[in-house]
Amino acid sequence: MTGLRKLFVKSFGCQMNVYDSQRMADTLAPEGYVETSTGEDADLIILNTCHIREKAAEKVYSELGRMRRLKEAAAADGRKLLIAVAGCVAQAEGEEIVRRAPTVDLVVGSQNYHRLPALVARAQRDGHVVDTEFPLDDKFEHLAAPAAAATRARGVTAFVTVQEGCDKFCTFCVVPYTRGAETSRRVDTIMAEAERLADAGVREITLIGQNVNAYHGAGPDGRPWSLACLLEQLAQIRGLERLRYTTSHPLDMGDDLIAMHRDLPALMPQLHLPVQSGSDRILAAMNRRHTRADYMDVVCRLLEARSDMALTSDFIVGFPGETEEDFAATLRLVGEIGYSGAFSFKYSPRPGTRGAEMGEQVDEATKTDRLHRLQHEIDRNRATFNRRCVGRTFPVLLERPGRHAGQIVGRSPYLQPVQIEAPTSLIGAIAAVTIAEVASNSLFGTLKREPALAGAGA
Ligand code: SAM
Ligand code: SF4
Repeated sequence: MTGLRKLFVKSFGCQMNVYDSQRMADTLAPEGYVETSTGEDADLIILNTCHIREKAAEKVYSELGRMRRLKEAAAADGRKLLIAVAGCVAQAEGEEIVRRAPTVDLVVGSQNYHRLPALVARAQRDGHVVDTEFPLDDKFEHLAAPAAAATRARGVTAFVTVQEGCDKFCTFCVVPYTRGAETSRRVDTIMAEAERLADAGVREITLIGQNVNAYHGAGPDGRPWSLACLLEQLAQIRGLERLRYTTSHPLDMGDDLIAMHRDLPALMPQLHLPVQSGSDRILAAMNRRHTRADYMDVVCRLLEARSDMALTSDFIVGFPGETEEDFAATLRLVGEIGYSGAFSFKYSPRPGTRGAEMGEQVDEATKTDRLHRLQHEIDRNRATFNRRCVGRTFPVLLERPGRHAGQIVGRSPYLQPVQIEAPTSLIGAIAAVTIAEVASNSLFGTLKREPALAGAGA
């Protein structure tokens, strides 16, 4: 091992990137890289980027301007700072990044993080390196080895990637191009990682994947396991009290998975189930492969399994051809479901996707107006959901110190942040908390002295 060097990884975009950033740090740890929280004193900076919307991709180039100045400052101090771009922008734009921003030393695609130590060494020696090949072998296999030695708990909750890529080809989305075909990780490596995290004090794991409920990883019996089977197995791990999974496609909400929400107390009563639009015409143009009625049917079955289920969604406004009538159908759907929250975006045409080639692109002003109206409706839904929690007592996982002394922030079973007055020695506990007040995004509660009702809803 060489002398210690400092690594700063900055993550953009989804939880998948947060997880990948942690795995990159784990992979580089045996090379002597220790993480630092700022770029100022780093020897290697990795920007782990997101390509989902144009704005997200452009953010990277403005960040690279700042990185160039950091690199110049380091050189003036006699230090060599290496700049790497990873993630979906790296995968999609490859060489183009180095052309636009010559300050970048290394471009590494989303499938090649296991090769980072060798790539960093090459970039140090030879200058610019670009590696965006999709390897023919399994990225999970390679990542498992360094991660096995180094998985570190970074708190009482953790993400674990179980599935990557997507074969669905929604016409607005770059994921099938930047993350490649769908692959699922083997059950034994997921179990081993979850056990290590639980031993290190993690109480809640969120399984992540672009299409997590399409999970079909090889089980120890050699057959493909469903997400439902995997969750059931994970729930056996001692110390692991809570399980979640995200992001799910409505088409893959099988009966066995829905039944888990009824039968598995560790599985939290909350689900991110993106619908994108409430109009069948737009859903078809988006190639979502489900109708509004199909989506409502999944929601009804979920609520039958678990009546206090909190649902969240993603929406896109201004997809090509979206009329005022189509948009009104989306607003109606939001009102009917009563979401506990949702993300909403203006449609952003992405190069290489079918949506970008469609006629009837919606103008910017209309998109902005629809986004505001939709967000208003979503905010109303969230406020109603939160207000209904006042006076209720439910188990809250106490996660970290709050902003003010004496305050801790935790999560309700429904994923709402809950603030309480309590000593930090309680971090990691699941405590019964009575909700006294709500603000726009948080709940405020008081600790009850009764023992925790691990995993159950209210
Ligand atoms: N796999 C998930 C699904 O099917 O719902 C979504 C994954 S994507 C990383 C997250 C969200 O970004 C999508 O649900 C969608 O709302 C949004 N998104 C994707 N492409 C977009 C685009 N071209 N313009 C605007 N929003 C987009
Ligand atoms: Fe993108 Fe659609 Fe796949 Fe989700 S299901 S990742 S939106 S292509």
